Amino acid sequence: MAQSAVPALANLSTVPPCVCFQCNRCTAGCPLASAMDLTPAQVVHHLMLGEWEPVLKSEAIWACVHCETCTARCPQEVDVSKLFHMARVEAWRSGKVSPDQAIAAYFASFLENLYLYGRSAELPLTIICKLKTENYFQDFMLGLRLIARGRLNFFSLPHGGSAYRRLYDRVRQKEEAQV
Ligand code: SF4
Ligand code: SF4
Repeated sequence: MAQSAVPALANLSTVPPCVCFQCNRCTAGCPLASAMDLTPAQVVHHLMLGEWEPVLKSEAIWACVHCETCTARCPQEVDVSKLFHMARVEAWRSGKVSPDQAIAAYFASFLENLYLYGRSAELPLTIICKLKTENYFQDFMLGLRLIARGRLNFFSLPHGGSAYRRLYDRVRQKEEAQV
């Protein structure tokens, strides 16, 4: 069990998951529920019971797009979307997520891309993600079409990454000091 997730999740939601009465309104409104191995209501139910492991190992937390529909629909004002977000961060930090899970590879690539360039740069993001997944030819034709339309630019990369890196390193030092 990821013990560190417990206080983090408890602190994050202004209304704790224990007030959930399993009405399923969050699940009914979730546009990604059919693609999730745990529905939003099931995630909240696990958290109510203190069962972190199935949540942190689920694919559901990675499928969530944080549209906040679940949060808006909850009659008990449980911030379901924030719970998903925090569970995702905790799963990542505690190494619960399988590195060959495509969405996790994308998540890691996105963070590395931010670290390098300060914001999302499509071409390096694509390259880093392909190197991580070793899935070089999936979406190859789509890539060619994007290049043809000028959406993947080989020669124009964002500047200003160094400021972001300093910020990132400061946050990391603070986090390490708190451990
Ligand atoms: S909408 Fe709220 S009360 Fe209903 S199941 Fe979801 S979290 Fe629980
Ligand atoms: S925030 Fe995530 S869990 Fe909630 S409705 Fe949107 S996709 Fe579903």
